[in-house]
Amino acid sequence: MTTELNAIYEELLRLKDEGEERIYMDDDTLKLIQPEPAPQPEPAQLGEELRGLLKDVSPAWKAPQQDPGTHKSNTFIKPLPAEAPIIELPDGDVKTRMAWLRDKVENCPTCNEHLSSFGKIVFGEGNPDADIFFCGEAPGADEEKAGEPFVGPAGQLLTKIIQAMGLQRSDVYIGNILKWRPEHDKPYGNRPPTIEEMDFCLPYLKAQIEIVQPKVIVALGNTAVNGLLGPDPKRKLSQIRGQWYTFGPTPLMITFHPSYLLRNGTMGTKRKVWEDMLKVMEKTGMEISDRQRIFFLPKD
Ligand code: URA
Repeated sequence: MTTELNAIYEELLRLKDEGEERIYMDDDTLKLIQPEPAPQPEPAQLGEELRGLLKDVSPAWKAPQQDPGTHKSNTFIKPLPAEAPIIELPDGDVKTRMAWLRDKVENCPTCNEHLSSFGKIVFGEGNPDADIFFCGEAPGADEEKAGEPFVGPAGQLLTKIIQAMGLQRSDVYIGNILKWRPEHDKPYGNRPPTIEEMDFCLPYLKAQIEIVQPKVIVALGNTAVNGLLGPDPKRKLSQIRGQWYTFGPTPLMITFHPSYLLRNGTMGTKRKVWEDMLKVMEKTGMEISDRQRIFFLPKD
């Protein structure tokens, strides 16, 4: 029961994080999260000392102190070095520089320490000369097994979006804020990276972007936005998506994460993401067909 409740709680946090303000819940889930009445101790059966102790045992006292948004004080997260890595890219062509960086990241002791027993570092993949750089959050279970970004269900949807733009995965570059799957103390789900984890990996991502020099970066979801622009609790993804920001000199388009589309796959949401991609295509000088322009519009 606790496992199911935790799973629901984590899912709600993620949805809130991604800008969701209302959700539908079926009756079974509602029943599941109904609070159970607290068991009442029988005062007559308890000595004074024991009664005093019980008074102090409040749920807040028992619950581990943690910030659910950042998971800051969760003790299962291995500590990080105080300093983020310093990257000085060598001269050379994009392929040589990217291979150098991949080697650096794959041999990063901190990244390796955070891997699960079967996990691989997920460096990123694609065309090191790409016009478009898609940036996600962190590898999930499928990605850490494969050592490649976006290969699970959300990745398959990202692949379809890329293909709808008239491109292949190998035409674009796909990377993540974090190079390892954030470790978890539970047997299910993923957690977003902490601020410290994002700060640690940022030099690697910056170096990838410096090599690719894309015309546009696409931030997929709230964590990618937090990693690239810095965290801001007041920012709401639903309000900033579809708008142009910058990361250094590079235009940055913010859109929903494909996993959000998987959960909230209404035509309206798909159209919003598609409109963001049309803006990316325009910015990068791609031709857009009439057919592409009307994708996901309601038919009258
Ligand atoms: N979600 C992400 O943000 N990145 C991946 O690589 C996979 C899923």
